[in-house]
Amino acid sequence: MIAQEFIEANEQYAANFTKPKINARGVIVVTCMDPRIHPYEQLGLKIGEAAIVRNAGGSAEDALNSILVAQYAFNTKHIAIVHHTDCGMTKFTTEWLRNKIKEANPGRDDVAKTVDGIDFHNFTDVEASVQRDLKYLVENPLVVKGSKVTGWVYDVENGKISQVGDVIV
Ligand SMILES: [Zn+2]
Repeated sequence: MIAQEFIEANEQYAANFTKPKINARGVIVVTCMDPRIHPYEQLGLKIGEAAIVRNAGGSAEDALNSILVAQYAFNTKHIAIVHHTDCGMTKFTTEWLRNKIKEANPGRDDVAKTVDGIDFHNFTDVEASVQRDLKYLVENPLVVKGSKVTGWVYDVENGKISQVGDVIV
Protein backbone atom coordinates (compact mmCIF):
# COMPACT_ATOMS: atom_id res chain seq x y z
CA MET A 1 0.00 0.00 0.00
CA ILE A 2 2.52 2.57 1.20
CA ALA A 3 5.16 1.24 -1.19
CA GLN A 4 2.88 1.78 -4.18
CA GLU A 5 2.14 5.32 -2.97
CA PHE A 6 5.87 5.98 -2.74
CA ILE A 7 6.41 4.75 -6.29
CA GLU A 8 3.64 6.94 -7.69
CA ALA A 9 4.70 10.02 -5.72
CA ASN A 10 8.29 9.57 -6.82
CA GLU A 11 7.31 9.32 -10.46
CA GLN A 12 5.76 12.78 -10.13
CA TYR A 13 8.78 14.10 -8.25
CA ALA A 14 11.26 12.76 -10.77
CA ALA A 15 9.19 14.14 -13.66
CA ASN A 16 9.86 17.70 -12.41
CA PHE A 17 13.32 17.02 -11.02
CA THR A 18 16.13 19.53 -11.12
CA LYS A 19 19.35 18.36 -9.58
CA PRO A 20 20.04 20.43 -6.44
CA LYS A 21 23.39 22.11 -5.96
CA ILE A 22 25.34 21.39 -2.82
CA ASN A 23 25.66 24.73 -1.07
CA ALA A 24 26.65 23.54 2.38
CA ARG A 25 26.12 26.04 5.17
CA GLY A 26 28.42 24.12 7.50
CA VAL A 27 25.71 22.95 9.85
CA ILE A 28 24.41 19.57 10.92
CA VAL A 29 20.90 19.65 12.35
CA VAL A 30 19.89 16.93 14.80
CA THR A 31 16.16 16.73 15.31
CA CYS A 32 13.26 14.42 16.05
CA MET A 33 11.68 11.94 13.65
CA ASP A 34 8.24 13.30 14.61
CA PRO A 35 6.18 13.79 11.43
CA ARG A 36 5.29 17.36 12.46
CA ILE A 37 8.92 18.41 12.21
CA HIS A 38 9.94 19.85 8.85
CA PRO A 39 13.46 21.17 9.40
CA TYR A 40 13.82 22.60 5.89
CA GLU A 41 10.75 24.81 6.20
CA GLN A 42 11.02 25.52 9.90
CA LEU A 43 14.69 26.55 9.75
CA GLY A 44 14.78 28.09 6.28
CA LEU A 45 17.06 25.48 4.78
CA LYS A 46 17.06 24.49 1.14
CA ILE A 47 17.89 21.05 -0.13
CA GLY A 48 21.67 20.80 -0.50
CA GLU A 49 22.41 23.18 2.37
CA ALA A 50 22.56 21.07 5.52
CA ALA A 51 23.05 17.58 6.84
CA ILE A 52 20.00 16.59 8.84
CA VAL A 53 19.92 13.68 11.26
CA ARG A 54 16.61 12.56 12.64
CA ASN A 55 15.92 10.08 15.39
CA ALA A 56 13.52 9.58 18.27
CA GLY A 57 13.66 12.83 20.24
CA GLY A 58 16.55 14.36 18.29
CA SER A 59 19.11 12.78 20.60
CA ALA A 60 22.68 13.98 20.10
CA GLU A 61 23.97 10.79 21.65
CA ASP A 62 22.05 8.63 19.15
CA ALA A 63 23.27 10.90 16.35
CA LEU A 64 26.94 10.78 17.35
CA ASN A 65 28.09 8.59 14.46
CA SER A 66 26.59 10.99 11.93
CA ILE A 67 27.88 14.05 13.79
CA LEU A 68 31.42 12.67 13.63
CA VAL A 69 31.07 11.92 9.90
CA ALA A 70 29.83 15.48 9.28
CA GLN A 71 32.64 16.94 11.36
CA TYR A 72 35.66 14.93 10.30
CA ALA A 73 34.76 13.93 6.73
CA PHE A 74 32.87 17.09 5.71
CA ASN A 75 34.32 19.75 7.99
CA THR A 76 31.04 20.75 9.64
CA LYS A 77 31.65 23.06 12.59
CA HIS A 78 28.13 23.95 13.72
CA ILE A 79 25.88 21.38 15.39
CA ALA A 80 22.27 22.45 15.97
CA ILE A 81 20.17 20.38 18.37
CA VAL A 82 16.44 20.89 17.82
CA HIS A 83 13.96 19.20 20.16
CA HIS A 84 10.25 19.99 20.29
CA THR A 85 7.25 20.34 22.57
CA ASP A 86 4.80 17.46 22.92
CA CYS A 87 7.53 15.01 21.90
CA GLY A 88 6.66 11.31 21.93
CA MET A 89 9.78 10.75 24.03
CA THR A 90 7.99 12.41 26.97
CA LYS A 91 5.16 9.89 26.83
CA PHE A 92 6.91 6.73 28.00
CA THR A 93 10.07 5.72 29.80
CA THR A 94 13.12 3.78 28.69
CA GLU A 95 12.20 1.11 31.29
CA TRP A 96 8.70 0.75 29.84
CA LEU A 97 10.05 0.31 26.30
CA ARG A 98 12.66 -2.20 27.47
CA ASN A 99 9.87 -4.23 29.04
CA LYS A 100 7.75 -4.09 25.86
CA ILE A 101 10.65 -5.48 23.84
CA LYS A 102 11.33 -8.18 26.43
CA GLU A 103 7.64 -9.18 26.48
CA ALA A 104 7.75 -9.52 22.69
CA ASN A 105 10.71 -11.89 23.02
CA PRO A 106 9.88 -14.28 25.90
CA GLY A 107 12.71 -16.47 27.13
CA ARG A 108 15.32 -14.57 25.13
CA ASP A 109 17.99 -13.63 27.64
CA ASP A 110 20.17 -12.26 24.83
CA VAL A 111 17.42 -9.83 23.84
CA ALA A 112 16.89 -8.80 27.47
CA LYS A 113 20.59 -8.20 27.93
CA THR A 114 20.88 -6.16 24.75
CA VAL A 115 17.84 -4.03 25.45
CA ASP A 116 18.97 -3.33 29.01
CA GLY A 117 22.02 -1.75 27.42
CA ILE A 118 19.97 0.66 25.30
CA ASP A 119 19.11 4.10 26.65
CA PHE A 120 16.27 5.52 24.58
CA HIS A 121 16.97 9.03 25.92
CA ASN A 122 13.44 9.78 27.03
CA PHE A 123 12.84 13.07 28.75
CA THR A 124 10.18 14.99 30.62
CA ASP A 125 11.34 18.60 30.16
CA VAL A 126 12.16 19.56 26.57
CA GLU A 127 14.50 22.42 27.41
CA ALA A 128 16.36 20.25 29.92
CA SER A 129 16.77 17.55 27.26
CA VAL A 130 18.36 20.07 24.87
CA GLN A 131 20.69 21.21 27.66
CA ARG A 132 21.57 17.57 28.40
CA ASP A 133 22.56 17.09 24.75
CA LEU A 134 24.62 20.30 24.68
CA LYS A 135 26.45 19.13 27.80
CA TYR A 136 26.95 15.70 26.25
CA LEU A 137 28.55 17.22 23.13
CA VAL A 138 30.68 19.75 24.99
CA GLU A 139 32.05 17.03 27.26
CA ASN A 140 32.56 14.50 24.44
CA PRO A 141 36.26 14.43 23.49
CA LEU A 142 35.41 13.20 19.97
CA VAL A 143 33.63 16.41 19.02
CA VAL A 144 35.93 18.79 17.10
CA LYS A 145 37.36 21.51 19.35
CA GLY A 146 36.06 24.95 18.45
CA SER A 147 32.72 23.61 17.21
CA LYS A 148 29.67 25.73 17.84
CA VAL A 149 26.71 23.91 19.34
CA THR A 150 23.34 25.62 19.46
CA GLY A 151 20.23 24.29 21.19
CA TRP A 152 16.65 24.95 20.13
CA VAL A 153 13.10 24.10 21.08
CA TYR A 154 10.46 24.00 18.38
CA ASP A 155 6.90 24.60 19.53
CA VAL A 156 4.45 22.37 17.68
CA GLU A 157 1.55 24.62 18.79
CA ASN A 158 2.68 27.79 17.01
CA GLY A 159 5.56 26.80 14.69
CA LYS A 160 8.10 28.97 16.51
CA ILE A 161 11.61 28.02 17.54
CA SER A 162 13.37 29.40 20.61
CA GLN A 163 17.09 29.25 21.11
CA VAL A 164 17.90 27.79 24.53
CA GLY A 165 21.64 27.30 24.28
CA ASP A 166 24.80 28.39 22.47
CA VAL A 167 28.15 26.92 23.41
CA ILE A 168 31.59 26.46 21.93
CA VAL A 169 33.18 23.05 22.42
ZN1 LIG B 1 9.68 14.14 19.07
